[in-house]
Amino acid sequence: MKKHILIVGGGFAGINLIKSLRNDKRFNMTLVDKNNYHFFPPLIYQVATSFIEASNISYPFRKLFSDNKNVKFHMGNLITVNPENKSIETDTGSLHYDYLVIASGTESNFFGMENVRKCALPMKSIEEALYLRNHILLTLEEAAKNKDITQAEKLQNIVIAGGGPTGVELAGMLAEMGKYIARKEYPEIKLSLSGIYLIDALPSLLSPMSKLAQNAAYEKLKELGVKILLNVSVKDYVDSKVILSDGTSIETETLIWTSGVIGREIKGLPEETIGKGRRILVDAYNKVIHTEDIYALGDICLMLSEEKYPKGHPQLAQVAIQQGKNLGANFKRIEEEKVLEPFRYNDKGSMAIISKYNAVVDLPKHSFKGFFAWMTWLFIHIIPLVGFGNKIQLALDWFRLFITNNPSIRLILFPKRNTGNGSS
Ligand SMILES: Cc1cc2nc3c(=O)[nH]c(=O)nc-3n(C[C@H](O)[C@H](O)[C@H](O)COP(=O)(O)OP(=O)(O)OC[C@H]3O[C@@H](n4cnc5c(N)ncnc54)[C@H](O)[C@@H]3O)c2cc1C
Repeated sequence: MKKHILIVGGGFAGINLIKSLRNDKRFNMTLVDKNNYHFFPPLIYQVATSFIEASNISYPFRKLFSDNKNVKFHMGNLITVNPENKSIETDTGSLHYDYLVIASGTESNFFGMENVRKCALPMKSIEEALYLRNHILLTLEEAAKNKDITQAEKLQNIVIAGGGPTGVELAGMLAEMGKYIARKEYPEIKLSLSGIYLIDALPSLLSPMSKLAQNAAYEKLKELGVKILLNVSVKDYVDSKVILSDGTSIETETLIWTSGVIGREIKGLPEETIGKGRRILVDAYNKVIHTEDIYALGDICLMLSEEKYPKGHPQLAQVAIQQGKNLGANFKRIEEEKVLEPFRYNDKGSMAIISKYNAVVDLPKHSFKGFFAWMTWLFIHIIPLVGFGNKIQLALDWFRLFITNNPSIRLILFPKRNTGNGSS
């Protein structure tokens, strides 16, 4: 009997598990995802800033697995897990499993601040990145029309909450967008995106990275005119005013939220399986505790068994990739009645781009910055992209864009159906 593995979530963890079993006739797999495509989160800030197209970093699941007869795709949103009868409910039907693998990642955490949840702009998905792109471009149009200096200034202020790699990369790119594009193409605007604020509650930017990386990011962003506020956090967002923990406030129509994540809610799992940050508690083999035949991988899981990571692994692409591969190998071992391998994270380092020709790289034993780090960043971010065409296209686009400083995709597009009333 072939084992049916149901995988919820086709991010790094889910697709690497499938890739490791796709030619193994002992398994049938069904991938369930709410989108019909895999995408590459580390580059969505470039979509949000009109630098690259969403299609550069996305790939349809059906195409990805079209040559693999033991892989099926089911587009749907997970509603609940029913461990008693080994099935799940999605908004597009129910499915049975022999093994269930939950790899549905995280969502933005607004830390209970309701106004922030309602009005801030998160950037975790392609839809959110495209929404943010439209918002930034529309706000610039508004600023260009506005004769009132205070109003125009407010429209050009951008507040980024979260000084991790995403916040730093976004701040650098927006500052350069102001310098190279807004100043030239929006002559009505005097300030041209000069009010970019980067806020973090900790005493440094890029807090999990080396001192070299933290200082390099701070110095370069300052030089680009980014206003960096450390040791302060966002407390509220009322009447277009971001209220900070030190009692000050910043007027803006654009609060970008890159501040924290929380595991996606999975209904139907026993309460005791959910740990800190709403992550699902797993053992050293990624099996969900107190359950049978249910596994969790990547950002959504919390594994406390590895000595080096007593509080769990960092929520990074490499962890998800390596867990997906390890679980695939363990499913084979189960079939062969062999001893299972516990997961051990191989930390390959981390990096962040700060601006054009400037990045920081932390390898396990060595840190560096500048042009060589930037080249390393580009190379490392092209390699894991899914699809050979995407890799070539992105490399060519980057080459053209870095030379011209001027991407041509600043289109404000709102998909709409023509209702036949002559409105379009
Ligand atoms: C903006 C940004 C930048 C980042 N930059 C870096 C970086 O530079 N380096 C790095 O190592 N990491 C980075 N990360 C973190 C990295 O992307 C994650 O660690 C990684 O994506 C986790 O992989 P995953 O497979 O666990 O989840 P994800 O990649 O989040 O995939 C989850 C999948 O589940 C699907 N899904 C979600 N909910 C449901 C549901 N209810 N039903 C069905 N399907 C569902 C989603 O559509 C998605 O396909 C970044 C993350 C973000 C958001």
